[in-house]
Amino acid sequence: MSALRSYVQDRWHTPDDEGVPVHHAVTGEEIARASSAGVDMAAALRHARTVGGPELRSLSFRQRADLLTELGTYLRGHREELYAVSATTGATLYDSKYDIDGGIRVVQAYAETGRRELPDGDEGLVFTEGPQVSLSRDGTFLGGHICTPIRGAAVQINAYNFPVWAPLEKLAPALLAGVPSLVKPATPTCQLTSRLIELIVESGLLPPGTLQFVCGGAGDLLDHVTEQDLVSFTGSAATAERLRTHPGVVRQAVRFNAEADSVNCSVLGPDATPGTPEFVLYVDQLVTEMTVKAGQKCTAIRRALVPAELLDAVSEATAARLAEVVVGDPADPTVRMGALAGVGQREEVRRSVKALLDSARLVSGDPDRVDARSADAERGAFLSPLLLRCDDPGATAPHEVEAFGPVSTLVPYTSREHAVFLAARGRGSLAGSVVTGDRAFAREFVLGLAPWHGRILVLDTESAQASTGHGSPLPALIHGGPGRAGGGEEMGGLRGVLHHMQRTAVQGGPGALSAILGRAAD
Ligand code: NAP
Repeated sequence: MSALRSYVQDRWHTPDDEGVPVHHAVTGEEIARASSAGVDMAAALRHARTVGGPELRSLSFRQRADLLTELGTYLRGHREELYAVSATTGATLYDSKYDIDGGIRVVQAYAETGRRELPDGDEGLVFTEGPQVSLSRDGTFLGGHICTPIRGAAVQINAYNFPVWAPLEKLAPALLAGVPSLVKPATPTCQLTSRLIELIVESGLLPPGTLQFVCGGAGDLLDHVTEQDLVSFTGSAATAERLRTHPGVVRQAVRFNAEADSVNCSVLGPDATPGTPEFVLYVDQLVTEMTVKAGQKCTAIRRALVPAELLDAVSEATAARLAEVVVGDPADPTVRMGALAGVGQREEVRRSVKALLDSARLVSGDPDRVDARSADAERGAFLSPLLLRCDDPGATAPHEVEAFGPVSTLVPYTSREHAVFLAARGRGSLAGSVVTGDRAFAREFVLGLAPWHGRILVLDTESAQASTGHGSPLPALIHGGPGRAGGGEEMGGLRGVLHHMQRTAVQGGPGALSAILGRAAD
């Protein structure tokens, strides 16, 4: 069985041991092995700092933006190849496009950000943020802020659900900032990230040392990070906690950004009764969020908060739509929902559903049985979409248990205040949405919920046509959330670039400041 390689110090590294098996999500067959045995993590980080960093910093912001454009174009030309590998992770073509085309769009968007918002010219080392302010009456003492790229590596640890989007979404802002990347994919779907990295390396576009790839376990990687490195983690809250408190991270106050799990909610406004367009939009969106990527989206709707008097209607309408969803081998064009990433992940979801069922009941689907079209339902990691209903909104599990699959729980609310209170019981979420034609309700709801959310979508007939939906993070907007969602922030246009830079207040006379900041006092 082929051993997937790491790419460190500008060389491919074949693991020193057999590694762990990586399985085809649809057939259950072993398709590769993954291991990082023999990778010298300290040397990889050193290589990023001593080779990759200087290479990138020798380029202007504009040149880095141009590199991103070329990279995006190149990857677009190789999408079919990536789709083929993506199918082995259980993804339908639609899911693959979400992951692969979505990742390429982030790269292109950051190329645009670089051209539009970063200084042109030779200078790729400094971004002047905000105006200079006068600090003395006579104007001879001023201050301002500069941002300069950190001198270390961006260590990027990703979850299994977006093997292409996640590494590209982290790589693009790092590269634009002038910081080299070390990518560590999640093992269950590393075959796809591995092919992505091979393609990027084959393209020859990126300067030496600017991209490294550790396939398999992280080993002692975090023992070697320094105060000039950045760790960007995406994955479960439990792993985030472990890595955030790693002595190597704590000791040197290493920048640590976490995107963790999230029990996201979507709220139906009281005005959106059956027969209204918003009711239809709500049910459509819920079904989409449950089934795209087989529900393995950190932003997917886990809690559907609906007015108590509409619970039966939403329950029936959603169940009817879910009954039409064909689950099976994504290679079959009639299949709408593919497999989970692996049978291990399916077991994890079943465990979470069991915990949810202590206070809820099933409305639709069976956690132990599914008709998988053109596939073996047991060997492949198939699961039917599972709609649950919890009539007691005060129960704990629906607000705390994330079943990372095609699972959502309907929960009733009795007033706007109650809906806000319930939403906040998720203790911090990545994405929320409110579906209503009532602007006053939307405003009160969004303002009530915002402190617990990284992103909130308001959906109504005005935006429905153009809306990208509840679950889609966009490069121009921040992705992340407080509390349980990890407390981190990625993307958000220029903000994502600045996360890779040190902000420094600089004080001095007008002459010295304009020499450094390159602008006169505002
Ligand atoms: P996970 O088990 O926490 O793993 C995430 C990553 O951490 C993987 O690359 C994993 O590598 C790595 N890892 C585990 N232990 C490590 C250690 N001691 N040192 C360094 N790296 C370590 O999460 P997952 O199962 O892949 O993903 C599912 C979870 O991610 C869900 O809870 C979901 O909500 C969350 N998620 C969040 C977001 C977001 O943007 N907030 C996005 C996607 C997913 P190995 O695979 O090699 O162990």
